[in-house]
Amino acid sequence: MTPPTPDLLLTKLKEHFGFSEFRPLQREIMEETLAGRDALALLPTGGGKSLCYQLPALVRPGLTIVVSPLIALMKDQVDGLLENGVSAAYLNSSLSEKDSKETWRQLYRGAIKILYLSPERLLLEGMFQTLASLQLEFVAVDEAHCISSWGHDFRPEYRALKSLREYLPNVPILALTASATERVRTDILEMLSMPDARTFLASFNRPNLSYRIIPRLAAIKQICEVLADHPGESGIIYCLSRARTESVAEDLLKKGIKAAAYHAGLSAEQRNRRQEQFVQDEIQVMVATIAFGMGVDKPDVRFVIHHDLPKNIESYYQETGRAGRDGLPSECVLLYSSGDAAKLRNFIDQASDQTEREISGRQLTRLLQFAEGSECRRVSLLRYFSEEYRNNAGEITLSCGACDNCLTPRDEVDATEVTHKILSCVLRINKQSGFSVGLAHVVDVLTGAQSEKIKRWGHDSLSTYGVGKGRAKSEWLYYGRELVSSGLLRINHERFNVIEVTNEGLTRLKNKNPVLLRAPLVSSGLSSEKRTEQRKRLGAIEYDTALFEKLRFWRSGVAKNKGLPAYMIFSDATLQAVAASKPSSLRALEGISGIGEKKLALYGEALLEVVKVPS
Ligand code: ADP
Ligand code: ZN
Repeated sequence: MTPPTPDLLLTKLKEHFGFSEFRPLQREIMEETLAGRDALALLPTGGGKSLCYQLPALVRPGLTIVVSPLIALMKDQVDGLLENGVSAAYLNSSLSEKDSKETWRQLYRGAIKILYLSPERLLLEGMFQTLASLQLEFVAVDEAHCISSWGHDFRPEYRALKSLREYLPNVPILALTASATERVRTDILEMLSMPDARTFLASFNRPNLSYRIIPRLAAIKQICEVLADHPGESGIIYCLSRARTESVAEDLLKKGIKAAAYHAGLSAEQRNRRQEQFVQDEIQVMVATIAFGMGVDKPDVRFVIHHDLPKNIESYYQETGRAGRDGLPSECVLLYSSGDAAKLRNFIDQASDQTEREISGRQLTRLLQFAEGSECRRVSLLRYFSEEYRNNAGEITLSCGACDNCLTPRDEVDATEVTHKILSCVLRINKQSGFSVGLAHVVDVLTGAQSEKIKRWGHDSLSTYGVGKGRAKSEWLYYGRELVSSGLLRINHERFNVIEVTNEGLTRLKNKNPVLLRAPLVSSGLSSEKRTEQRKRLGAIEYDTALFEKLRFWRSGVAKNKGLPAYMIFSDATLQAVAASKPSSLRALEGISGIGEKKLALYGEALLEVVKVPS
């Protein structure tokens, strides 16, 4: 196979999807596949993975297979493709025998370009042989991390994909995932037997997402404040427990918000129903446990709120990542409670397995440093994935200008006394007992707690016992962690995460130089100027909001008639572009991102009508 000229890809991109440029690495990935080589594509959520196999499929004469574990999503994907004038179909257990037969007939006729298959189907007797008899172009393996038992979503049935190479030795494979850990990556390459595959790793920065962390004081009130900035827009609220999802959903319902709970305690039927209602915009806010997630492909989720602390930074990134797939500005808010943190720490300390205790303990510390820290959230998140944040100009910088810490930097406070108390307490404990302890215990000593350990080890006789009664425990914990971040203390991960004074800390204690630290997290709403600044940073465009609302209303009518989710008719991004440029001819409409040939023919005239009518 010789790769087609790049222009063909671009032409097809505009023709079928209405887009006029590629997202980062999309073109490179497509060209690799079209050149007949295996590839592994690591793109963040919203990076546009689907297009990486859909477009190459369109420029080839034969059939492209897409393996996906998400049966519920296959229909959506296929519906979306049909809307764009691409012949696609799926085969999975949800299909009736009659429909299944019909699909096969079309396949044999060569009438289908893209076929979605569940891994179970692939395993069926004779399936590989049948596929080999069709004119196969390449196989895309979506959500490829499911093949790895190291991933967060291991699916045993994905192991069937090991036979792909054996049965279809000459068919190139394109594996795609949003999960970027090294371990998972090597696993995918090995399991799919594609050692020579080129890996395409995109930046994991989500430039259109803003991050904000506020102390949880009155959760429902705070949630409503966030909601007020998103009238009628979709969002997800993550909670730790099923009971909490129910109670929050109920509270929101009472306030007239179309909310519903979603958790593993509901029947499969109820869950499917609610998910569908969410996708169809009949439910505005889904209040969910993490059971709600991977199957959610809704591109116009405008906010994700964490009512409780997520499990670790990786989960936080995945969960917040469900916002703003369509590239429009979207918001991630975490309601932080130091009480949650303490509970989690306790919970971890009780784990019987020592390795697990250590790993979870370390993850929690990283998470708390992130949540309480005063550094740019984006910089901090990306660093966790070993990536340096680069601004639009490609320069490495330490400030994104759009997160809470960048927009409203916290004041520095003189923490000299606090620092001295903490450091000397750590040293005294070690001197008296001959061993070091965790931060929580140090804080117990400072605040004069009467814990069992304090009595057993006689730490109530230390001169630092109770010297910190004037401050809340959570505040001491906060400063303790800040001192770790600033290098005066360190956590010894090899020794049960105990806390130790570093050489720098010792010097500071001796020379008595003042220590400045950031003040603890305060509840800060963003002023309207800050919010405008933020939206600009996230790439918001200026448009006629009244017209946008009218377009949305029109779209929801069309979607209802067709029984399709609204975003499948046109994305919010496309409607905003229409509301910005107010086109008056089909020609002008054609230039707008997201309007391809089929959509222009289907809806062009109607769109122009909506634009024409004065508000
Ligand atoms: P992922 O699977 O990586 O999370 P999707 O394939 O669902 O991402 O794409 C996310 C959104 O981005 C979709 O709404 C899609 O239409 C849009 N998109 C993809 N590629 C482009 C592009 N080149 N230009 C504009 N929008 C795009
Ligand atoms: Zn920032």
